[in-house]
Amino acid sequence: MAEYEYETHDYDCVVVGAGGAGLRATLGMAEQGLRTACISKVFPTRSHTVAAQGGIAASLGNMGPDSWQWHMYDTVKGSDWLGDTDAMEYLAREAPKAVYELEHYGVPFSRTEEGKIYQRPFGGHTTEFGEGPAVQRTCAAADRTGHAILHTLYGQSLKQQAEFYIEYFAIDLIMSDDGVCTGVVCWKLDDGTMHVFNAKMVVLATGGYGRAYFSATSAHTCTGDGGGMVARAGLPLQDMEFVQFHPTGIYGSGCLITEGARGEGGYLTNSEGERFMERYAPNYKDLAPRDYVSRCMTMEIREGRGVGAGADHIHLNLNHLPKEALAERLPGISESAKIFAGVDVTKEPIPVLPTVHYNMGGIPTNYFGEVLNPTAKDPNAVVPGLMAVGEAGCASVHGANRLGSNSLIDLVVFGRAAAIRAGTVVDRNAAIPSTHKPSVDKAFDRFDTVRHANGANPTADLRLEMQKAMQEDAAVFRTDKTLKEGVEKMTAIAGKMDDIHVTDRSLVWNSDLMETLELGNLMPNALATIVGAEARKESRGAHAHEDYSTRDDENWRVHTIARVDGAKVELSHRPVITTPLSKEKDGGISLKKIAPKERTF
Ligand SMILES: Cc1cc2nc3c(=O)[nH]c(=O)nc-3n(C[C@H](O)[C@H](O)[C@H](O)COP(=O)(O)OP(=O)(O)OC[C@H]3O[C@@H](n4cnc5c(N)ncnc54)[C@H](O)[C@@H]3O)c2cc1C
Repeated sequence: MAEYEYETHDYDCVVVGAGGAGLRATLGMAEQGLRTACISKVFPTRSHTVAAQGGIAASLGNMGPDSWQWHMYDTVKGSDWLGDTDAMEYLAREAPKAVYELEHYGVPFSRTEEGKIYQRPFGGHTTEFGEGPAVQRTCAAADRTGHAILHTLYGQSLKQQAEFYIEYFAIDLIMSDDGVCTGVVCWKLDDGTMHVFNAKMVVLATGGYGRAYFSATSAHTCTGDGGGMVARAGLPLQDMEFVQFHPTGIYGSGCLITEGARGEGGYLTNSEGERFMERYAPNYKDLAPRDYVSRCMTMEIREGRGVGAGADHIHLNLNHLPKEALAERLPGISESAKIFAGVDVTKEPIPVLPTVHYNMGGIPTNYFGEVLNPTAKDPNAVVPGLMAVGEAGCASVHGANRLGSNSLIDLVVFGRAAAIRAGTVVDRNAAIPSTHKPSVDKAFDRFDTVRHANGANPTADLRLEMQKAMQEDAAVFRTDKTLKEGVEKMTAIAGKMDDIHVTDRSLVWNSDLMETLELGNLMPNALATIVGAEARKESRGAHAHEDYSTRDDENWRVHTIARVDGAKVELSHRPVITTPLSKEKDGGISLKKIAPKERTF
């Protein structure tokens, strides 16, 4: 058994992750006087949320009529009827409150002439339950909305005396013998010390796992660590086959050009200079939802109408927009286009390609952020002591496809919800759970095995193999053949984790070891994705299956539940929640309105 000395820390609540979701939860918990720690492997304001550009959706109605019911309808339709209706209602209903709170905390939103929060159009956001024109619902701070939100929430959390443990890497959850989460084991990256956090409530806010793919818009830190920890605790993941490709990643680097660029009037063209989205989506054109636009772009390229020497990408045009508008509303992406594509957006189109952007799946939760274990005897029971919020969680509000600007709002609505819930379920007077030693020993044993791994596969090589396999076989379009091959490849690749090679054995700033632990977390996320995709014999949202081209509500309007153990994945299902929280007579949306129908734009 590996012996590591460790320091112990006791808190009411421990939040792992300092992105938008983690900080909003931390702030809300600290505000209520709960002793709260926030742990992050990177400096809080370097979390991926800082890169969010376009904005945050809420039906403020500052630019024209809007309502939470319309926002809810769009979210239901956007999810391709796989989202949980209670959670989607909660999201749309609480969104304006959550945004005004952000405003009061000090987020420097862009403003209208009258001084109201500026809102721009985004794909899939409409009026009149999808019957009316596009709506301006996405609140923005120029094209640096995530940056503005993250810095504000960090400052406010410090003000509320939340305690930060920065550059601490969470290795594993501490689970008691009867399945209660009582803390987390961490490795401090800059001095190599070990730390055990005991808590009444642990919140996973560790973000997505975009880095399971070769080309992704997400930061290199987005390695699904929360999903990895949960899988190792024997708990399942949900709907992992749904991976969003963003239509406009810069060709080559994958760096994101926000959908706000099309919201501000940008449009896509093929090699014939045609605005092809008009053909596929006569109503919403370039502002159809992301899954749809990504597929249309892929079809144009496949049919030989791609641009560039290899005819393998598409052009995004902004050069017709007034220079002042570009400078005021889209300064960041003008800069990105210059740096990553060598393009002056006032003169030339930007070369773009659909790029992995967001994980709809994650750790299953209810709409309070409490983690569920649908494989337990009572599938609706929560896992005591454990919550998951943000991209790591799956409430599920995005179902099979997320609408643009619905993630930032998910972070703050559910970060806030988790804090509200903690305020009622965490007993301030109760003793903090004592350290559950066997669980800590297990975490150290695993850590030590990885640290001394002396196998045949260097981490970087194995990671590349995984990324290539996922990129090829769990792509925008999928077939029985590619998915079957993908499962075989990924099973073999995951098997090689036992034969991994770590060169550096030290404990201080050992990036080799950290990347290996991250790869160990990416692996179960990637496996659940490809195995879930292979099993789902229909097309829904981001899962476009060429051998089953239509949605099959009779058999497949269910959440996929995946338990991953090493290279093995066990699948089961959980029904989608189809009833809203409020009744129609109380102002809620009618069941008829949100009944499944064909998704056209
Ligand atoms: C380029 C880009 C632009 C986007 N633009 C928009 C937009 O305009 N609107 C919108 O709605 N959505 C947007 N999205 C999506 C949205 O930004 C993300 O889904 C969201 O920011 C995720 O936030 P999070 O709080 O869940 O996680 P993150 O912001 O990814 O933060 C994760 C946190 O967890 C910590 N962490 C992870 N693992 C560990 C570990 N093992 N130990 C300790 N700490 C750990 C990290 O240090 C970090 O603090 C964008 C995404 C990208 C990539």
